[in-house]
Amino acid sequence: MSLLATELLSFGYQNGEMVVRDLSVEFPSGSVTALTGPSGCGKSTLLYLLGLMLRPVGGAVLLDGTPVHALPDRERARLRAHHFGFVFQDAALDPTRTVLDNVVETALYRGQPRRDAISAAHRLMERFGVQLRATHKPGQISGGQAQRIALCRALLTNPRVVLADEPTGNLDPATSAIVVEALREHADGGAAVVIATHDPALAAACDQHIALDAR
Ligand code: ADP
Repeated sequence: MSLLATELLSFGYQNGEMVVRDLSVEFPSGSVTALTGPSGCGKSTLLYLLGLMLRPVGGAVLLDGTPVHALPDRERARLRAHHFGFVFQDAALDPTRTVLDNVVETALYRGQPRRDAISAAHRLMERFGVQLRATHKPGQISGGQAQRIALCRALLTNPRVVLADEPTGNLDPATSAIVVEALREHADGGAAVVIATHDPALAAACDQHIALDAR
């Protein structure tokens, strides 16, 4: 049984055509999956469905073989906080708090002692070359830095599933390689990692490649 899977998953936004149609895919523990396809084909939408932020109109999302897509909001929020790490395209950082506070937020919510969370956060931020930005507010850093901060936040809780939306989109090749290596290492530790990307080299280096069609 796969860590994460979809069964005949379908979704369309209100009054729109179907964006995801009858998709059945498995995301095993230890795997990195690339989602590719032209802009607008539904990569982000699929990540939101996998992350239980959108409810499918048909089919199922299974976590450890159990359907979780139709659970009440509160229960899905709990699963998200405990099992999922997200790296959104816009980073989705809280602009009122420092970068460091953003990174440790989910870990603290999960009950990790503040001191441990902060030292682990510093290690991750150093690895991704954004340590000097810890006391900045999100409005004072670049898009590429914000994405790496979001990656630190996602990895800090050691989630079983990582969903990343173009995590290397704003990065130079060297930094991009560091990010990809970290995601691979995270999968090697037993997680299922799903990356939406336009980068053919990154997609080719993944264990599984799902090419969504233009709509
Ligand atoms: P991608 O990530 O591949 O660029 P998206 O998942 O963002 O694709 O979008 C898939 C389709 O769904 C596009 O046609 C887009 O316009 C539409 N879409 C995305 N978000 C919404 C929304 N909140 N409401 C209505 N339509 C949306």
